[in-house]
Amino acid sequence: GPADAPADGWDATSDDAFAHAQAVIPGGVNSPVRAFGSVGGTPRFIASASGPYLTDVDGREYVDLVMSWGPALLGHARPEVVAAVQEAAARGLGFGAPTTTEVELVDEIRRRVPAAERVRLVSTGTEAAMTAVRLARGATGRDTVIKFAGCYHGHVDGLLASAGSGVATLALPGSAGVTAATAAETIVLPYNDLDAVEAAFAEHGDTIAAVITEAAPANMGVVPPLPGFNAGLRRITAEHGALLVQDEVLTGFRVGPGGWWGLEGSVEGWAPDLLMFGKVVGGGLPVAAVAGRADVMDLLAPLGPVYQAGTLSGNPVATAAGLATLRLADADAYAHVDAASTYLRRAVAGALVEAGVPHALQWAGNLFSIVFGEQAAAEGARDYAAVQASEHWRYAPFFHALLDAGVYAPPSAFEAWFVSAAHDEAALGRVVEALPAAARAAAEARPP
Ligand code: PLP
Repeated sequence: GPADAPADGWDATSDDAFAHAQAVIPGGVNSPVRAFGSVGGTPRFIASASGPYLTDVDGREYVDLVMSWGPALLGHARPEVVAAVQEAAARGLGFGAPTTTEVELVDEIRRRVPAAERVRLVSTGTEAAMTAVRLARGATGRDTVIKFAGCYHGHVDGLLASAGSGVATLALPGSAGVTAATAAETIVLPYNDLDAVEAAFAEHGDTIAAVITEAAPANMGVVPPLPGFNAGLRRITAEHGALLVQDEVLTGFRVGPGGWWGLEGSVEGWAPDLLMFGKVVGGGLPVAAVAGRADVMDLLAPLGPVYQAGTLSGNPVATAAGLATLRLADADAYAHVDAASTYLRRAVAGALVEAGVPHALQWAGNLFSIVFGEQAAAEGARDYAAVQASEHWRYAPFFHALLDAGVYAPPSAFEAWFVSAAHDEAALGRVVEALPAAARAAAEARPP
């Protein structure tokens, strides 16, 4: 078998590290997108990060536009957050008993999102989704869940189902290892299509426990909800006695102080029954949450019959990171992230126009992504089918031109770009300098 990595420090290049990792970890990575599968090439092994920059084990520095896939809202290794983590760690890494930090974090969540009447902390967004679905079933006594094609809610069996196109498709398993029985409990519908939701409820209404949706989808690239779509989901679920679960794992505390709900539901005067948070809420350490209506949340054990638990839930070091992050994420921080995102989005669009690449820059709050192709340029992409039909093969050469110039964009066309409060003029300027060559590479790309 492969030689083991040396015990005391390992001075490997990314190439060496990946070669060895592939022999001992499936695909060499602990989460698939990190493997650079859709863009090709060797993933960079990261040695450290600071503010808007990543440094790999080969000593190269990159402007980071992934930011740990969202958590690093304030930039990497923000000193106040690191200090809070160090202080918490020095008091003990975990007790399996309650701490006041957990309660402070929950109060901070509730202050920002009043619909979070009760909050249960978990460690990952996947757990939050699993708990939200179990709660919805426990609350309604129904089994079926509606999700939307292209929305990601973690690797929960029943939510891995993706869709064929069309209306009210009964899902096939989206992953090997998901039983047919589990897949049959999920109805996958096209995003942004309220008629499809109405039709599914007309046919199956008395069996549907919940509609789960990304508050603003950013896992098929960014596909913003059409005006009235989320409010429509609220109305239809309420009419049929089903719960509305809004997944704010990615948008929560990133697109604004109150997440996507703060930009939409709070303005329109409605709230979902349950919400999910993750990413920013843990400031880079494993914290996520399921939250919502008190009467539903109080069905959780130990008060109610819906079981849920976790050795690491509400971990004191992780919650300290989340609390420090949220306390520093003030109006100025959000204004900076929004401005940096708008600036970058316009720069990307400008470079693509200059190179003659037809595209749509799609955005929701401070999240954006590129959809390539004439059709997207003409109409935008409002669902997963449109994104899949786009010229996404233009992304790999675009990505690699950026990477070669020291810019670490998401290694997939179907992911959002993330900026932070630490992305200053110097960092953004480096991206802008790298864009023309990347746009030309996208222009020269040919379909596979
Ligand atoms: N929900 C959304 C909207 C996400 O973006 C993600 C992760 O990317 C998840 C759920 C799953 O979270 P985790 O990766 O922490 O399990």
